[in-house]
Amino acid sequence: MIRAVTILGATGSIGSSTLDVIARHPERYRVFALTAATNAEKLAAQVLKHSPDYAVMLDNIGADAVRCRLPAGHPTQVLSGEEALAWVAGHEDTDMVMAAIVGAAGLLPSLAAARAGKRVLLANKEALVMAGPLFMEAIKQGGAELLPIDSEHNAIFQSLPEHYGGHFAPHGISKILLTASGGPFRGWQSAELEAVTPAQAVAHPNWSMGQKISVDSATLMNKGLELIEACFLFNCQPDQVQVVVHPQSVIHSLVQYCDGSVMAQLGQPDMRTPIAYGLAWPERITSGVAPLDLVTIGRFDFEAADEETFPCLALARRAFSVGGTMPTVLNAANEIAVEAFLGERIPFSTIPTLVERVMDAHEATTVKSLETVLMADQWARNQAILLLQGSVNEVDA
Ligand code: NAD
Ligand code: MG
Repeated sequence: MIRAVTILGATGSIGSSTLDVIARHPERYRVFALTAATNAEKLAAQVLKHSPDYAVMLDNIGADAVRCRLPAGHPTQVLSGEEALAWVAGHEDTDMVMAAIVGAAGLLPSLAAARAGKRVLLANKEALVMAGPLFMEAIKQGGAELLPIDSEHNAIFQSLPEHYGGHFAPHGISKILLTASGGPFRGWQSAELEAVTPAQAVAHPNWSMGQKISVDSATLMNKGLELIEACFLFNCQPDQVQVVVHPQSVIHSLVQYCDGSVMAQLGQPDMRTPIAYGLAWPERITSGVAPLDLVTIGRFDFEAADEETFPCLALARRAFSVGGTMPTVLNAANEIAVEAFLGERIPFSTIPTLVERVMDAHEATTVKSLETVLMADQWARNQAILLLQGSVNEVDA
C-alpha cells in the first residue's frame, strides 16, 4: 500500500530532507500535501517535482506566487492560511504528517494531525515544549502514532525497549543520556561570546539546519528544549535525563539500564536517518545516508555541558520543573530573543537574559486548554518585546 504523506514546512531543512527520502521510495510513499510560509519559488519547484494533491502557503500572496509558477491545468490545488494548514494535516487522505514547521506556528497543524489519528513525525519540538500535556493527550485521544524525528529523541526511541510504556522501573531503565554537540561556541568563555555575529552562531560544526535551531544550538537552548521534549515524550523528569556533550555528533543519544548496559544509536549527522526511520517504522528503508566508518572517525569525546557560560539549559530545566505554562513562556520568549539576535538588535548574551526576565515575570498556571497555552505564548511574546523596547542595558542589567 502506498502511504500518503503531508509535509508541514516542506521548504525547510527537514522538509527538503524528507522529500529526498520519499523520492527514493516511490513504491512506498506519495506526497499528499506540501506547505510553506513564504518561499513560493521553492514550494512551486517541489510541487512540480512531487505533484501533491495540495500545496498550502501562509497567505494569499504566497499562494498566487505558487499558482503563477505552475503550468495551466496542473492538478495540485493551491490553498492558503492557517485553517488550510490544519485541514491538510488532518485530512482523511493523508496517512502521515511530517511536522517540520519551525516554532510555535507549527502547533495547530501538528495538533490537527494528532487529533485525526495520523502517524505524526515530530521534528517541530517547539510545539511539544509549548503544549506538552495537550499534545500528548491529543496523540492518545486521536489514536495517533508519535515518532520522534529530532535525532536525539529518535535515538532514545530506538534504544528503549520495544514496548516501553512510559515508565522506567518495569524495564530496568536508570536514565536517558541526551547527547549535545556543544554548538559552535563550545569551550568559549562568556566574555568571548559578547561580540559573536549571527553568521558565526548559525555555522554549526556538524549539522546543516535552519537558522533558528542553529542559534538555539549555539546558546544550548536547543538542548534545553530537547530536555523538555524528552520529558514529555518519554514521561520522565529532568533529573532522569543527563546531558552529555559529545562533539563528534555520531552517538545521537543513549539509554542506561540498571544492569550496567547502555544502549545507543549511532550514525552520520544527517537527518535523513531519523526521517527514514520514522517513515518506515517498524521496518527500515534506505535513506541516502553514507554508512558510518568508525575507523575514519577514530575517537569519541565526552564532556559536561558548561551551564554557567550557556545558561539556557538551566532555564529550560527550571521551566519544566515549574511546569504548567512556564515551558510555553520559555519557548515564546526564546523565539522573540532569537529573532532579535538574528536581526542584530540584541547581542548573543542577551538571549538567555531576556528569556530569564520574561520567566521571572510569569506566574505559571496549569495547562487546561489550548486557550491557556496560546494566551501564555502571546503574553510572553508581548513581555519580551516590551523588555526589548526598553534599553538593552535594562535587559542586561
Ligand atoms: P527551517 O527554517 O529550515 O524550515 C522551517 C519551515 O517552516 C519552512 O518550510 C518554512 O516555510 C516553514 N514555516 C516557518 N514559519 C512558518 C509559519 N509561521 N507558518 C507556516 N510555516 C512556517 O527549519 P528546520 O531546520 O527544517 O527545522 C524545522 C523544525 O524541525 C524546527 O522545529 C526544528 O527545531 C526541528 N528540527 C530540525 C532539525 C534540523 O536538522 N534542521 C533537527 C531536529 C529538529
Ligand atoms: Mg536534536
